[in-house]
Amino acid sequence: MNARAVFRCIAGCPGEHPLGQVLYRCPTCAGLLEVSHDLEALATRSPEAWKQLFAERWRGVDGPSSSGVWAKREWVLPELRDENLVTLGEGATHLMPIPRLASALGLGDVRIKQCGTSHSGSFKDLGMTVLVSMVQQMIRDGVPIRAVACASTGDTSAALSAYAAWAGIRAVVILPRGKISTAQLVQPLANGALVLAIDSDFDGCMRLVAELADREGVYLANSMNSLRIEGQKTVALEIAQQWGWRAPDWVIIPGGNLGNVSALGAGFEMMLALGLIDRRPRICVAQAEHANPLYRSFQQGYAELAPVKARTTAASAIQIGNPVSFAKAVRALKACDGVVASVTEAELADASARADLAGAFTCPHTGVALGALAQLAAAGEIRRDHSVCVVSTASGLKFADFKVGYHEARLAEVPSPLHRNQPIELPERYDAVRDAVLRGIA
Ligand SMILES: *Cc1c(COP(=O)(O)O)cnc(C)c1O
Ligand SMILES: [Zn+2]
Repeated sequence: MNARAVFRCIAGCPGEHPLGQVLYRCPTCAGLLEVSHDLEALATRSPEAWKQLFAERWRGVDGPSSSGVWAKREWVLPELRDENLVTLGEGATHLMPIPRLASALGLGDVRIKQCGTSHSGSFKDLGMTVLVSMVQQMIRDGVPIRAVACASTGDTSAALSAYAAWAGIRAVVILPRGKISTAQLVQPLANGALVLAIDSDFDGCMRLVAELADREGVYLANSMNSLRIEGQKTVALEIAQQWGWRAPDWVIIPGGNLGNVSALGAGFEMMLALGLIDRRPRICVAQAEHANPLYRSFQQGYAELAPVKARTTAASAIQIGNPVSFAKAVRALKACDGVVASVTEAELADASARADLAGAFTCPHTGVALGALAQLAAAGEIRRDHSVCVVSTASGLKFADFKVGYHEARLAEVPSPLHRNQPIELPERYDAVRDAVLRGIA
């Protein structure tokens, strides 16, 4: 198979650009680029043959197929040479049915795609394995790249630092000081990245890193770089594969910079084009009320983006007021009759805790998606006969402060947590323990 892929402008400017070129924006209109695959070449293998191949490679024991991303490599980055693979075993994550949550919401088939079960604890690994592998290939092909750099609300920098450290490439991360969790800050430090903490917000850090990338020969690793989207796209492929090569009726995903929903949409489009599925899911992007520019646009029939000043939210990874991938997200939503929801701090925290009660351990961003699920179920938009996939974006273990704060009723704007659970402190006396146990399990 002679599959190949190139960068193209999403606004349709003429020209295609090789993926091994340092390029983040369209040279003609400065708009977003996307990776465009040679679908004719990919279509020389039948849908059934692709399904068979992907089934054989699922959770492979070793080699590229031990990564969920590289198990789909022809659809992701066909021109990557094996020796340049930088993988930490990302992807092929569990699609977890959560029946007790489903029935609490009056729904039937609800499953959580556990993208946070990954090396650095978030779905960002899926895109970073592709980007850093490509950088490795470019460096070895003689492209002068001094370092890879990103602005981050936490998870992007953790992923970039890990993959770069594994490959021996210098990483620079630019973070908003005091706005990310301890666990997130410690990952890039531990992996030896150069960490700059700036008195600004994410959007300010993004402006700085974009300027560095333009001027100083560092390679930009933010999701404006569409190589990352190619890896993240495999989430859609895995959801369909795990659902028996069907799209569920709904996919709900939290959105900040909106790269991930763009990737999700691109994955379903590609499967549709190549005949692996026969319909799209409806996609819901869930935003925190404190950072909801896409929601505001949606309310006005997808009005032009009006950037907002993002306010503090427990869902810190989506505290973004000026989303880079806005145009791609709108395109994906329009194609699938999508919707956008806006979720309060109390809704996201209670929704996260509600899912935990049914056996999950969700991060606040997944809580935003679950809050949207509760809203859509209450409105009758999502019904009992619908199949629903909620995309979990990070491990709850990265957000222990949020979890503890909830159960101790210390979260801002969540004074009365609905699902609070606290330890019962007792002396070492059998009768006291017995009474507490019998009362507690009654
Ligand atoms: C990055 C991130 C998001 C948002 O993804 P976008 O592509 O920026 O919309 C959501 N949740 C977590 C945990 C993240 O790290
Ligand atoms: Zn263009």
